[in-house]
Amino acid sequence: MTIKVNEIFYSIQGEALFTGCPSVFVRLTGCNLRCSYCDTIYAYNEGRDMEIPDILHRLSDYNCRIVEITGGEPLLQDETPALVDRLLESNYTVLIETNGSMNINMINEKCIKIVDIKCPSSNESDKNDLQNLKRLSSHDQIKFVIGNRDDYEYAKTVMVLRNNSVPDYNVFFSTVTENLSPAKLAEWMLKDNLKARFQLQLHKIIWPDIERGV
Ligand code: SF4
Repeated sequence: MTIKVNEIFYSIQGEALFTGCPSVFVRLTGCNLRCSYCDTIYAYNEGRDMEIPDILHRLSDYNCRIVEITGGEPLLQDETPALVDRLLESNYTVLIETNGSMNINMINEKCIKIVDIKCPSSNESDKNDLQNLKRLSSHDQIKFVIGNRDDYEYAKTVMVLRNNSVPDYNVFFSTVTENLSPAKLAEWMLKDNLKARFQLQLHKIIWPDIERGV
């Protein structure tokens, strides 16, 4: 069985708890959502079929032990759990970013899951599988991308549904920058004394004019 891979690249982790860490990214092809602000439309269909050993061989080109599997939506492909297992067996630290619409229990619990819960302005919030919030472990993380005040209120309501083992500061809020200023989001979070972490997408600050492979 093969996995359809959109791109493999080495970059700086731009979000969540591994922010700033050099990491290798394996972007898988395909997504079941169409978020209003999507910046990876190129991953919907483009890609080439690779066997898992080919992916591991390619990763060995990089002197890096952190691998993030992303998309698109990586849980759409049947072989993704097997890829995660092989990477863990090879002693990589493995992260997977998922859009929260699919059951994360299919992934090995040693893999760090970053669940991107969709807010209303994405036009895809009805696809969230909120049961995933109870499936998280203490090393897992939750992201909300906030485009307006309604999104912010939604995120506040949803974040408290998570498994108690997930620390406050594993919950990340960032903005859809075209629609909401980071300063406004920071103001709301401080006013509410919100127990969550504000973040900017570091890779977009480092490489503002590059749209893929960062
Ligand atoms: S889940 Fe991610 S890749 Fe899919 S449409 Fe939304 S932003 Fe784009």
